[in-house]
Amino acid sequence: MKPSYALYFHIPFCRHRCAYCDFTTYAGQDALIPAYVDALINEIAFVGGNLTEKAYAKSIFFGGGTPSLMSVPQYASIFVAIQENFHIHPDAEISLEVNPGTLSPNYFEGLREVGFNRISFGVQSAHSDELKMLERIHTYEDVLSANLSARKAGFENLSFDLIFGLPEQTLEKWQATVKLIVDLAPEHLSLYALTIEDGTPFGRWAERGMIPLPDPDLAAEMYEWASGYLEAQGFEQYEISNWARNPRSKGFSPYKCQHNLQYWRNLPYLGFGTGAHGYAAGMRYANTSSIQKYIKCLHSDSATKDFPLSPATRSADEIVPTTEMNETMMLGLRLTQEGVSKSTFRARFGVGLEDVFAKEIDELMKYGLLEWGQKEISEVSKTSDILRLTKKARLLGNQVFRRFVS
Ligand code: SF4
Repeated sequence: MKPSYALYFHIPFCRHRCAYCDFTTYAGQDALIPAYVDALINEIAFVGGNLTEKAYAKSIFFGGGTPSLMSVPQYASIFVAIQENFHIHPDAEISLEVNPGTLSPNYFEGLREVGFNRISFGVQSAHSDELKMLERIHTYEDVLSANLSARKAGFENLSFDLIFGLPEQTLEKWQATVKLIVDLAPEHLSLYALTIEDGTPFGRWAERGMIPLPDPDLAAEMYEWASGYLEAQGFEQYEISNWARNPRSKGFSPYKCQHNLQYWRNLPYLGFGTGAHGYAAGMRYANTSSIQKYIKCLHSDSATKDFPLSPATRSADEIVPTTEMNETMMLGLRLTQEGVSKSTFRARFGVGLEDVFAKEIDELMKYGLLEWGQKEISEVSKTSDILRLTKKARLLGNQVFRRFVS
């Protein structure tokens, strides 16, 4: 069987840096976009050229930053490079993150022609005062019109990101945001709790007492309400922060994010671009986080690096089997239904997960944070070989994951 990878492309450009953001992204650097596109193409050719045989791309994801700042012709040229170096799987999920405040006319039609089949909108809130506080550059009206344009262009898989636990956000305002977005009939939702990061304007304002810190109890109430509401609206929660609409009366939702499932199942992915991370050939690696350095590295042809690394790789760590097992637990337990399967674990590592992690599992079960669940292997047959978080542990995930760090 040919190897297959998820491909991640990082687009580190934004119009304005949002007040809570600590991602690898830069405002005011748009002039570098053409050189950046060339560098991405060179990196694809470099990494692809080091493969012994052309591999499959099972998903492609452009994240950021603001990928929607790049034009359709720029994406078309990147896709030519991907096609030259990888087989794009006929069912590949191909996603673009879109900021609703950046769209040019006919953008979505162009994206469809290039091959995109999924859009992930960064919405965060439906209230103008909250969007202003977050320093988002778009309005809720922009979201409505972006949603309409994407549907008109034929997109049948739309995802919306929302943030809860904002300073001074009430439960009612959060409920109104979720309800308004659900009324748009999305296929997928990601709900994230605000974290206040050092080095961001939010971090500085919180330190000086200029904004109240989010109330963790209220944030928990918001999460639990959203969980119940989304379930009642036909969404299946499949990860701590992710819900997919399930139009089938039986079976699983076809709208789970295939690209992110690859991460949570601890399967290989290749990262391209400034600050991108990858995991392949037994290594986790990261690229330089400077756009200028990235472009420079990819325009010099003196570098020799073996797959999966590129001239822009800044660090690479070999993943030994113990680490791989720990990471498989930490990532897999994020999957609220699927969890970590005993049989899959044994097939991958040649040992039982309850042998390797007997102490941790025992302890976490005593606290009511883990449970054995059933895996549906067909409509009629079930097996109970799934280790997963209990419902109450979904809010305490980090405490569980910590137990699996060596
Ligand atoms: S649009 Fe996204 S990546 Fe860009 S600054 Fe805002 S939160 Fe960060």
